[in-house]
Amino acid sequence: MPDLDVDLFVIGGGSGGVRAARIAAGYGAKVMLAEEFRMGGTCVIRGCVPKKLLVYASRFPDAFHDAAGFGWTLPEPSFDWSKLVAAKEKEVTRLEGIYTRTQENAGVTVVKSRAVLEDAHTVHLLADGRRVRAKTILIATGAKPNLADFPGIEHTITSNEAFDLKRFPKRILIAGGGYIALEFAGLFAGLGSEVTVIYRGDNVLRGFDEDLRQILTATYKEHGIRFIFNDVIGKIESNLQVVESTSQVDESALELSVTTRKGEQLIVDQVMMAIGRSPNTAGLGLEAAGVALDKIGAVKVDDSSRSNVPHIYAVGDVTNRVNLTPVAIREGHAFADSVFGGKPWQTDHSLIPTAVFTTPEIGTVGLTEAEAIEKFAVIDIYKTSFRPMKATLSGSTDRTLMKIVVDGETDRVLGVHIFSEDAGEMAQLLGIALKAGATKAQFDATMAVHPTAAEELVTLRTRTTRHERAVAAT
Ligand code: FAD
Repeated sequence: MPDLDVDLFVIGGGSGGVRAARIAAGYGAKVMLAEEFRMGGTCVIRGCVPKKLLVYASRFPDAFHDAAGFGWTLPEPSFDWSKLVAAKEKEVTRLEGIYTRTQENAGVTVVKSRAVLEDAHTVHLLADGRRVRAKTILIATGAKPNLADFPGIEHTITSNEAFDLKRFPKRILIAGGGYIALEFAGLFAGLGSEVTVIYRGDNVLRGFDEDLRQILTATYKEHGIRFIFNDVIGKIESNLQVVESTSQVDESALELSVTTRKGEQLIVDQVMMAIGRSPNTAGLGLEAAGVALDKIGAVKVDDSSRSNVPHIYAVGDVTNRVNLTPVAIREGHAFADSVFGGKPWQTDHSLIPTAVFTTPEIGTVGLTEAEAIEKFAVIDIYKTSFRPMKATLSGSTDRTLMKIVVDGETDRVLGVHIFSEDAGEMAQLLGIALKAGATKAQFDATMAVHPTAAEELVTLRTRTTRHERAVAAT
């Protein structure tokens, strides 16, 4: 096709898009990338990175409190939300600059524009009206927060806005039961908000191991977080008044009156919707390009991230496979190596270690107890719950939980689930062990690091439970 402008057009400058663009350019491909918001995407601008910074901030009050048990006397600490937001913004802006420069240094042309497909080879750049013809197209547009349909939804925020609130919410209602809802509940509570979580089910973190779900809810309740289960928001009314003299809205006294479907009433300063995310495919021109979507709007792809249109690929959250940054990055890398580097490989989506940055953290890899019972005939559970050493002097009542799920027939470790300080760090290393196919005997043969919390993982000798599938009578 002689009229082509670029070898690869990447739509979206987030985790998956930037990796794919840089690697493809490194193989000599002529690459253009369009980003409509800020380079770095969700993870860098309004996801993993700013969230972790806020989580760090939220843990200081515990440290100040714990210090007394270790002999420290501190002056009364005070907290300034606007200083935290400004510091976070400075770091995010620094990273955004690095992301742009890294692309440009690799030879990628970065365009600050929304990009829409006009047909299977033509990308329309809305910022300046240009049309770019591409041989290969990569959709890496990520996902966006879901909203619900109830009167007053316009008064709510999502995680997108939560990082830049002008006013610190003294009382916040968070709707949702996924990891984002729970992380924000923990961080706002740590920073001093009165937090309520409302969720339609009867416990949060569906899909995580049941013991983790229970210990997290119990710990959060002890930290003063309130849960409303089996209910959802019915309506929200705001007291916002327009100041007549200026026609401006006076937000300083903003109060929201929330009524749940079951009739409970709450007065809060903010309501945050964290009820899931959906693939960002609306208005992208995918129909015009003939790209097939699944029923929630995700781009349907094969194991090589290829859509039904052979030269159009998609990676990351827009494909709704495993919606995590390292997964998007790896899918982007595999795509670029395979299509432009002559080194085909596919992303392995099994045994992905992951963390939930609640306080304490959740770190997990592999099958939950319930999933293992479904899949294997004999399952052994090794479990321990204890007060971490630091709590002996700090007085904290938080408990640590560690659980190992083992195939009782082969001794292979199928899953490990941890609720502890630094559980995310532990999950990363456990991911290597499980990926290598470690057995429980190999865990046992590993020398402990003492004194640590993680040493429990190699000293757990006594089985807690064995589940054996009943053998059908012949
Ligand atoms: P994104 O990073 O979302 O990038 C897509 C980009 O495409 C965006 O920048 C968007 O502006 C742009 N775009 C969309 N449409 C167009 C268009 N038409 N034209 C031009 N540009 C467009 N993951 C983890 O692994 N660990 C975590 O701790 C973690 N925490 C998170 C916390 C929050 C609050 C959120 C929301 C997410 C978190 N995630 C975390 C998930 C992680 O951010 C995503 O999995 C990851 O960003 C997906 O990368 P992506 O490239 O698919 O999409």
